Amino acid sequence: MNTKQLDSDYIAHTYARFPVEIVSGKGAVVTDADGKQYLDFGSGIAVNTFGTADRDWTNAVISQLSLFQHTSNLYYSKPCAELAKMLCERTNMKKVFFCNSGAEANECAIKLARAYGEKKGREYYNIIALKNSFHGRTLATLAATGQDVFHEKFTPLPEGFVFAEANNIESLQQTAEDNKCCAIMLETIQGEGGINVLTNEFVKAVRDVAEKHDLLIIVDEVQTGNGRTGKLYSYMHYGFTPDVFTTAKGLGGGLPIGACVMGEKAENLFAPGDNGSTFGGNPVVCAGAVNILSRLTDEMISEVAEKGENLKKQLESIAGVTEVSGRGLMLGLLCEKDSSQIIAEAREKGLLLLKAKNKIRMLPPLTVTKEQIDAAVQIISECITT
Ligand SMILES: *Cc1c(COP(=O)(O)O)cnc(C)c1O
Repeated sequence: MNTKQLDSDYIAHTYARFPVEIVSGKGAVVTDADGKQYLDFGSGIAVNTFGTADRDWTNAVISQLSLFQHTSNLYYSKPCAELAKMLCERTNMKKVFFCNSGAEANECAIKLARAYGEKKGREYYNIIALKNSFHGRTLATLAATGQDVFHEKFTPLPEGFVFAEANNIESLQQTAEDNKCCAIMLETIQGEGGINVLTNEFVKAVRDVAEKHDLLIIVDEVQTGNGRTGKLYSYMHYGFTPDVFTTAKGLGGGLPIGACVMGEKAENLFAPGDNGSTFGGNPVVCAGAVNILSRLTDEMISEVAEKGENLKKQLESIAGVTEVSGRGLMLGLLCEKDSSQIIAEAREKGLLLLKAKNKIRMLPPLTVTKEQIDAAVQIISECITT
């Protein structure tokens, strides 16, 4: 039986898949079961940082795999410790908790926020999140997600989340005044919410409000992190360091990982037993992530910024384009023509694109070449203007 039929028969119907079965690839190119090649401007949703089947990363993973594949967190293992050191040194943070996904990393951050609030008084449990945010699919991270469509069917959700409007300073200040809060949690570019970039003024206000009300600042870098936006972590565009940030997607380069990274205010909030994970910090996954992080040099990341600027400029010059948003190689494109239609036509022409709300979303591997960017722009341009 073919894969599509098996999938439809036995996989829970939680995804509306694109009609493509990927069987192999190299870099920013993937090949489907019919042998058709595509330029991959989705990277498995910002996961395949160095593209598909990157040799250096594959070697790092295989070499750890052939030593030992798992130990549990009851024993020490070097890849995990080494990765934590690299993460902290690159960000001036203090401690890392490893888990397996973005949602889990955010769960950890939410627990830290609650523990921080506990010190102020039991009633300080509210976390300010932003409308239109996305923080994951577990019940608590769904509750933190400021989009009602994700909540229907699943109530009651854990309480303790209050919402301010993104880029609306007054709304933020008012939300902090009206509720007893412990933290504020945000994406600097709302990914699933439609590639909306927070303004400098708003992020400055977040810092002021956090100081006034003694709130932990938690930045969700699950999608924006690991070089994607042209900085190692996207908060770095704003010239400040959060108290906690979470990351996942691109950190593992293709294997499942989540990390909750804690600064001074958060590093001692947990005691042994307060959080845990069977797979978290898995040596194979961490060896892959060490490879990714060590190759995300300042030079490599500034190339990401340049490539992103180039892609943005080219997209802006296409007739029929209404808006290009985002930073680095995390871009959103709004056209007069319907996004889903453009995405379907681009796929026919050999380009894989993603959607975010009503926009086309682009998240190519960070190693995408200038020629591949030009080829993608050519296809998008053809799809928009025909
Ligand atoms: C994808 C995403 C998540 C959820 O990550 P999973 O690994 O799917 O659990 C959380 N926050 C943001 C900003 C994301 O883009």
